[in-house]
Amino acid sequence: MRRQPYIEPTIRTIAGALILACASLIYFYPHGAWLWLAILFFMGFNLFQSGLTKYCILEKMLKKLSFRSELDEIKSLSQANAAAEARAAFYDTLDLLNEVVIELSPDGTLAFLTDHWLKLMGSAYTSNAHFLGDPFIVFIHKQDRGLLNSQLDTLLKGARETVSLRFRMSREDQEEHWVEGKFALNRQHGRVQGVRGVLRDVTEAHMQEKRISHMAMHDALTRLPNRAHLDERIREAVEHSRATGSKFALLFIDLDNFKQINDLRGHKSGDQLLVDVSQILRAHLRETDVLARWGGDEFVVLLPFSHDAEIAHTVAGELMRKLQLNLEKMYSDLFVTLSIGIAVFPDDAENGEALLVQADKALFYAKSQGRNNIQMFGDLHTRAAGYEEVELTSRFVAAVKQCQLQVYYQPVMDAGNHERIAGFEALARWHDDQYGWVSPANFIPLAENMGLIQEVGRQVLEEALHHFAQFDGLCTDLKLAVNVSKRQVMSDDFYPMLIEMAQRYGISPCQIKLEITESIALLGIERAKGHLQKLSDAGFTLSLDDFGTGFSSLSHVHELPFDEIKIDISFVRRIKTPEGRVLVRTIVEMAHAMQLALVAEGVEDMETALILQEMGVEMLQGYYFSRPMPKESCAGFIAGLSSTSAPA
Ligand code: C2E
Ligand code: CA
Ligand code: CA
Repeated sequence: MRRQPYIEPTIRTIAGALILACASLIYFYPHGAWLWLAILFFMGFNLFQSGLTKYCILEKMLKKLSFRSELDEIKSLSQANAAAEARAAFYDTLDLLNEVVIELSPDGTLAFLTDHWLKLMGSAYTSNAHFLGDPFIVFIHKQDRGLLNSQLDTLLKGARETVSLRFRMSREDQEEHWVEGKFALNRQHGRVQGVRGVLRDVTEAHMQEKRISHMAMHDALTRLPNRAHLDERIREAVEHSRATGSKFALLFIDLDNFKQINDLRGHKSGDQLLVDVSQILRAHLRETDVLARWGGDEFVVLLPFSHDAEIAHTVAGELMRKLQLNLEKMYSDLFVTLSIGIAVFPDDAENGEALLVQADKALFYAKSQGRNNIQMFGDLHTRAAGYEEVELTSRFVAAVKQCQLQVYYQPVMDAGNHERIAGFEALARWHDDQYGWVSPANFIPLAENMGLIQEVGRQVLEEALHHFAQFDGLCTDLKLAVNVSKRQVMSDDFYPMLIEMAQRYGISPCQIKLEITESIALLGIERAKGHLQKLSDAGFTLSLDDFGTGFSSLSHVHELPFDEIKIDISFVRRIKTPEGRVLVRTIVEMAHAMQLALVAEGVEDMETALILQEMGVEMLQGYYFSRPMPKESCAGFIAGLSSTSAPA
């Protein structure tokens, strides 16, 4: 409703005086008696009716002419006073709140603030007045200004009714204070007067949320990003790469001999080593590179780059060198090496998940190549053989983890009586759905390289002892031969594990033969001797496997507590040639001179068996007698022998 104009009383008085002056002039004018009377009449009438109607006629006339009356003015003034008082009371109430209420002018300056602002800003001022008129944005943390501006823009453009966002204040004391702000347009009489908002200090809640999400995204030991965090970063990198056409690489890093270090020095030292490794790696990467702990002793580096993928290989080489150099200084008695597998996006995979798998395959391949080396997935993918090997390796590792290895048994026969069985040799077998039967000649070296040989050895031993306990009763004096890798023998866990297992299955150590390959002597006689002597003292039979293929001479071997020599198949194969015969005869004579028993493996026909028997070899093993067979066939084999050898 339009407000009526109002004539101030002073102006009215002046106007009245002027009218009176005019009337006096007329009065003094000789012919003005009628006018004088008219004025008197008017005043009298006025007085008369104003007493009745509370309005003088002039007042009425002014009202008619659309002016506000004195009374109107008094009323509206008292209403304005009441509104101002209510407003002041309202702002006093706002000042009681922990939130800050603000009003911004259309140009973004602070037009109104409640008291809590001073606290929010950590300000030493006692009044808000100091801040009024300043642009609001200057009190916002530099990094959050863009976000705030864009949100306020959407508001001013009318795209949204309200906007809420979290940002930091730029405080005088530089403390990080987080604020949750809710803004809406400030409209008065239908016109936009700026922006109104409420700011709430959420610093504590924000920090708590940050701590929780940090914990969920970081590894507790090394404080590096964990798998979940890495997944997120890979997703971002994939998106960025797709948008810009840039590339990035994933480096899968594995410490080669961490498990031994852990076993040897204890978990605390192992943990410290992991922390040191993470710090060295981090220090030699750029700020933009991501280093995450994948788990155990495995780390992943996300390396963004713009051109040649070879750069990833160079960085990996640098990391390897730097790590070795630094660890040598920190741990003079340790030699830590790395295996690294690299895959590049988008060259090697279509998405982040597949890229991780490819980098892991490249790592597998690096390990299967004898560790301490770097392999790029792209390289092995182009080399079919390498790719196959990676596939095979990863399937083998899975098989070991799921205890899918089997054990077959090959009988060892008495050379003097081909019907008498001396024992069985346990041989590991692995059947894969994709590759079929894989020879131990292939997977045992793989297990060695992958650091799985001890686990493979343990599984084979457990199964072999379990089976042997079942068919031992079928025949007396049977011996079970198991192949033991050098690494297994030299580990401190092996002896107690063997003793415990033998006891658990009720098998005496003298029934167990440990076949250890000849190259054990290469580890150093003294080191090997301690371990072997302990086993020998406990009653286990020690057999030197693959004799003739290694580098040791018989005299060398004499220093080790072996009971038996197993002539390698390569000599047995040559036995029908004059030189072969001479070689085997020499071995037999020397072994006998040292009171060592002799076994020949790879006997494929009767002629070979007879030659070896004639030479004095005590035990024979080979396809001539039987191929390695599953446990179920062993009882039948033994039964078959007893029936043929039973006295007629
Ligand atoms: P090895 O200990 O020399 O085992 C004898 C190998 O000769 C076996 O091969 C056996 O099947 C094969 N063989 C037996 N008789 C004949 C024959 O008349 N002619 C021919 N041509 N071969 C014969 P296999 O089972 O493939 O094992 C290969 C090697 O794998 C073994 O050689 C052994 O060094 C290793 N190995 C097998 N099982 C284990 C295990 O459980 N632990 C460890 N550490 N090594 C194992
Ligand atoms: Ca063997
Ligand atoms: Ca052999």
